[in-house]
Amino acid sequence: MKTQTAKILDGKALAGKIQQELSVAISELQTKVGRPPGLAVLMVGDNPASAAYVRNKEKACAKVGIASFGKHFAAETTQGELEEVIHTLNHDERVDGILVQLPLPNHLDAVGLLHQIDADKDADGLHPVNLGRLVRGETGLRSCTPAGVMRLLEEYKIPLQGKQAVVIGRSILVGKPMALMLLEADATVTIAHSRSHDLKAIAQNADILIAAAGRPGLISADMVKPGAVVVDVGMNRVTDASGNNRLVGDVDLESTAAVAGFITPVPGGVGPMTVALLLQNTFASYSRTVRK
Ligand code: NAD
Repeated sequence: MKTQTAKILDGKALAGKIQQELSVAISELQTKVGRPPGLAVLMVGDNPASAAYVRNKEKACAKVGIASFGKHFAAETTQGELEEVIHTLNHDERVDGILVQLPLPNHLDAVGLLHQIDADKDADGLHPVNLGRLVRGETGLRSCTPAGVMRLLEEYKIPLQGKQAVVIGRSILVGKPMALMLLEADATVTIAHSRSHDLKAIAQNADILIAAAGRPGLISADMVKPGAVVVDVGMNRVTDASGNNRLVGDVDLESTAAVAGFITPVPGGVGPMTVALLLQNTFASYSRTVRK
């Protein structure tokens, strides 16, 4: 077994700290406002993984004092019905954040629903207006997973300016906003994807390597520059040799931890940060309404 030299970027601990700070800030502001912040998570159908994510988000809301206005809809709910619910929530003054849990049943158009959400209540930071604000470097709600990664890097004082950052994955959910946020922090950014040639050579060049491909074991120690910061966004359910189900990232943690300078574990790295940033986005919208 190789010796681990990498320092762990502990997302679970930082998420706990953020939640504690939010909890204090919420109770202070709530006495002035007369209501708590509110988040509505809309879930359609019975996908068990989605149900677990929704429960997790609602539990986290309860912990910090955010009221949940979540709704669970039958799989056959129509686009029109969901649009109507979103319009009502857009005008509900108790609700500061709205998100639609993905994936949706096939007959529904997720992007179409996203467009219906008031951009200032877009807790997931995925509305085109908020993505546009990110591209322009303007203030706005940022997508939770990449914003969570940025917060984690900031906490550990990882320098980004002028560094070579490589993002593996180009989805609108993670890869693209991640690359834009690193660019905003003055890193030199490369985006690699499934059609990139020689991923190993690209990855080896990274001072900051962000893996967001959803491919277990994609990143092995030989692809990592010694001392690099490795952030594993991947969340993959795999069945191991003894038939047990477990959650792994895109990075082979054991071998890579002997080469990298810093590394995020899975679970306990980026996942908890995503939820913490969702709460933070909801609180940001709440504070904004209060100041209006
Ligand atoms: P996606 O499937 O939409 O995108 C995957 C991206 O990876 C694509 O752009 C594709 O080009 C690239 N890719 C796939 N195989 C590749 C390969 N062999 N080499 C290089 N690039 C490759 O997925 P997503 O929604 O962006 O999510 C990515 C991963 O992050 C998934 O495992 C997902 O579960 C996880 N995720 C985690 C969190 C969290 O909170 N930790 C949040 C969102 C997504």
